[in-house]
Amino acid sequence: MAVDRLLPTDEARDLIHLTRDITDKVLAPIVDEHEKAETYPEGVFATLGEAGLLSLPYPEEWGGGGQPYEVYLQVLEEIAARWAAVAVAVSVHSLSCYPLMAFGSEEQKQRWLPEMLGGATIGAYSLSEPQAGSDAAALACKAAAVDGGYRIDGAKAWITHGGIADFYNLFARTGEGSKGISCFLVPKNTEGLSFGRPEEKMGLHAVPTTSAHYDGAFVPAERRIGTEGQGLQIAFSALDSGRLGIAAVAVGLAQAALDEAVAYAQERTAFGRKIIDHQGLGFLLADMAAAVESARATYLDAARRRDGGLPYSRQASVAKLVATDAAMKVTTDAVQVLGGYGYTRDFRVERYMREAKITQIFEGTNQIQRLVISRHLAG
Ligand SMILES: Cc1cc2nc3c(=O)[nH]c(=O)nc-3n(C[C@H](O)[C@H](O)[C@H](O)COP(=O)(O)OP(=O)(O)OC[C@H]3O[C@@H](n4cnc5c(N)ncnc54)[C@H](O)[C@@H]3O)c2cc1C
Repeated sequence: MAVDRLLPTDEARDLIHLTRDITDKVLAPIVDEHEKAETYPEGVFATLGEAGLLSLPYPEEWGGGGQPYEVYLQVLEEIAARWAAVAVAVSVHSLSCYPLMAFGSEEQKQRWLPEMLGGATIGAYSLSEPQAGSDAAALACKAAAVDGGYRIDGAKAWITHGGIADFYNLFARTGEGSKGISCFLVPKNTEGLSFGRPEEKMGLHAVPTTSAHYDGAFVPAERRIGTEGQGLQIAFSALDSGRLGIAAVAVGLAQAALDEAVAYAQERTAFGRKIIDHQGLGFLLADMAAAVESARATYLDAARRRDGGLPYSRQASVAKLVATDAAMKVTTDAVQVLGGYGYTRDFRVERYMREAKITQIFEGTNQIQRLVISRHLAG
């Protein structure tokens, strides 16, 4: 199928083709079964890694794909249109490679980055705690300096890919206040680290979200990323990029819902005509299309600023806010277009609507995005 996207290079076009091939042949046949049974799709991330889709925006010298962020995000959007849970986990893996890439030493990068970017090891991002979500600076998990490293005690919450990922970007307290947080790269098999049972979520059923418990876990000093106290700066800087990933996931979900709604409205008849020919419904679909396309333009603008070396933190928050609100509205309206059928599990729009909700919550709720935007405006 022709790619109806503005892409900067032929290579980017090939990547979109490759992604569609994988989503059609590997993801589409198994998504419903795994989402319903709440089972993890073993092998899917290995396939994405082998295809080079787990490291697209990172430099080739470290094993990355060397692609502009705008290309990576469009690939992510294509994955999300098929399977949001997988796209979210891909976005979180990319997020969890960022601290090492941007703040790690040459030695640390040489040691761990190639396997992370090659997809041999999958990453998770562990900032949130049971009592500290939006207010990340209030986190309590403690990293006490001991001979040769740190002793970690405390609980982390809501870890996407928890218990499955091979390494964890851990943000823990080495001192007081917002400058008393440090970042660590913790391997899964660390003694004293255990994971809770998967949360029973509204959506994203195929990829587990768990808590993590550190009980005197020893992490060697060479696994601290950046300087002591730099953790929150690292966390927020990573989230600027990560939020764009969530915006792209939201647009993928919204596009999938729009496509299903249009197809249904062209088939279903009422009052002697196709429902798409009733202006009330045709206008609803038009508003959905406008929301999807403006949301896509918003994340692409932020990504192009990032690619061009311009500040993009405010634009990333705008994109996350606009795209995830659009996804919530468009998926809800898609259920409306399908009438009673839309409310059943026989049609995918029901799943899309449940999945859209989380995009407004994680990687900073949309209230927090407004806080970030307003602080930028206030200078
Ligand atoms: C499925 C799922 C996956 C997740 N994956 C990860 C992950 O991989 N890694 C990770 O670290 N975290 C992850 N999270 C955690 C997520 O980022 C947090 O849930 C989110 O940041 C909100 O924190 P909270 O749940 O503690 O809500 P709270 O911070 O308690 O917020 C509750 C409500 O108060 C509002 N609020 C808070 N402060 C303000 C304010 N100043 N102004 C206005 N309103 C405010 C919030 O917007 C929200 O509506 C995940 C969560 C879920 C549900």
